Amino acid sequence: MSHPTAPTGTASHLNNPYGHPLPSYLQADQLGPWGIYLQQVDRVIPYLGHLARWAETLKRPKRALIVDVPIQLDNGTVAHFEGYRVQHNTSRGPGKGGVRFHQDVRLSEVMALSAWMSIKNAAVNVPYGGAKGGIRVDPKTLSRGELERMTRRYTSEIGIIIGPTKDIPAPDVNTNEQIMAWMMDTYSMNEGATATGVVTGKPIDLGGSLGRREATGRGVYTVGVEAAHHIGLDVTHARVAVQGFGNVGGIAGKLFAQAGARVVAVQDHGGTIYRESGLDVPALLAHVALTGSVAGFAHAEVISQDAFWDVDCDILIPAALEQQITAANAGRIQARLVIEGANGPTTPQADDILQERGILVLPDVIANAGGVTVSYFEWVQDFSSFFWSEDEINARLVRIMKEAFAGVWQVAQDHKVSLRTATFIVACKRILHARELRGLYP
Ligand code: NAD
Repeated sequence: MSHPTAPTGTASHLNNPYGHPLPSYLQADQLGPWGIYLQQVDRVIPYLGHLARWAETLKRPKRALIVDVPIQLDNGTVAHFEGYRVQHNTSRGPGKGGVRFHQDVRLSEVMALSAWMSIKNAAVNVPYGGAKGGIRVDPKTLSRGELERMTRRYTSEIGIIIGPTKDIPAPDVNTNEQIMAWMMDTYSMNEGATATGVVTGKPIDLGGSLGRREATGRGVYTVGVEAAHHIGLDVTHARVAVQGFGNVGGIAGKLFAQAGARVVAVQDHGGTIYRESGLDVPALLAHVALTGSVAGFAHAEVISQDAFWDVDCDILIPAALEQQITAANAGRIQARLVIEGANGPTTPQADDILQERGILVLPDVIANAGGVTVSYFEWVQDFSSFFWSEDEINARLVRIMKEAFAGVWQVAQDHKVSLRTATFIVACKRILHARELRGLYP
């Protein structure tokens, strides 16, 4: 099935068959996030048919901007932070993806996250390309005033490439509705007109969308139920373990519990708790809202961080950080279904181990796409200045997620590949078909 001229190797074989070798900073020599992404693309090239001719476009970000973000600190000194905005692909529409404030942010990480946004947006068929941004900073060390000044200067610096029809940022790790409000205001001040559509994930009173805050968790639940159904797993009696009980894990856990599932274990940065008969999820959410962590929750057994991976459960939802399921713990996981709420929680090696053990992995690029789907609704509502009810939003979200899942499931069956590879096949075909229709400029 592979195209005669398609490159078929893995990460070590990344030369461009149609031109010059990739520059060193784009190669997968050290398998960081960008290297993992390149490997994932290489895996699907044999399935792209004549579109493989365009596959090289997926291995190079369209545009990457590095910006200096100087701000005056409260003590009068000047601090410089490094910021990025990467537009991986805009063949299907404007760039779309979050902004991360974290001390570990690097250009290569932002490149990978932007590329995964291209895949995710194409997988659920929203009319966007992929983009991502970030600043290398530990925002916990900044005062509110410093955080605002940094956000505004960063927005102004990337203002040359973002815009409601060009590239639309959103929240990600350590950024929230308030940061989006400052970004929207800064961009609007520079443009001389209020532009609500320049970012999504805004406060409701500034053109935000109902249902956006819960959208990612709702999407995790929706496609999780579909996947469970296909492997004969009854969600109403399932035992669920959740890592990360924030926006994504907390909402997903709540929805599974509402459906009758037993949430037997939850881990967050503060601790790991277990209850065989099922945790009281509403009470746990209230406890986390009050104390910031699941630690100290009554009516639960405390288990070690490591013991979380041995918990007897049917569904495991990693919804915290990257690279949590590794070769070291993948062999111990008891679940039949892993639903990736977080971005990149499973290493490629662990992915292979889970597949060999017959554990179904519902990959991030479809499982957590509910957030960007409702971001798309927010953007549409801002353009039309006409706002939908929460019921309408949730109904449309569920329809899009179910359709996307059904398409991916079929491709996985047809080609006998994992759901991750199937999602990449669906998404890469959509992106490259758009590339082909548009043709090369000039
Ligand atoms: P959040 O900040 O609301 O929650 C993060 C959770 O992870 C918290 O419960 C925290 O305690 C826990 N955590 C942090 N460090 C941990 C550790 N070392 N061990 C165990 N738990 C730890 O963040 P979120 O918005 O829920 O995002 C979680 C993941 O989902 C991230 O990978 C994010 O990129 C991804 N994601 C989020 C959205 C969204 O709309 N929020 C959309 C797509 C993907």
